[in-house]
Amino acid sequence: MGLLDELSDSIANTTRDIGKMAQNAGDMTKLSYDKKVKEGELLKLYEKLGKKYYDEHKNEDLEEIKEITACKLRIKEISDDIMLLKGGSACPNCGALVKTGSMYCSACGEKIEDIFEE
Ligand SMILES: [Zn+2]
Repeated sequence: MGLLDELSDSIANTTRDIGKMAQNAGDMTKLSYDKKVKEGELLKLYEKLGKKYYDEHKNEDLEEIKEITACKLRIKEISDDIMLLKGGSACPNCGALVKTGSMYCSACGEKIEDIFEE
């Protein structure tokens, strides 16, 4: 085999190797993406199942149930604080801001009588 043939073979092999590496990288990117998508779906399914389980078992003496209940309570407290800072309170029906002294919720029309009484 002459020097030119060897060089030609070497270039052909290198080109093939680079092509294979590029294809592998492409496959890897696609597989990583597919994996991330499925992992996201799994998390959403767990979340859905967890919510369903919580709703059906919210009075059970289970550590995670108690943690979720405490978390929800704290979120409610923080929401109330935010409403207070905005100058009102949350509508008991729809949760929209009802300005202090309002008789009705401007979002849903709920009659507001007692929520500002202390
Ligand atoms: Zn409302």
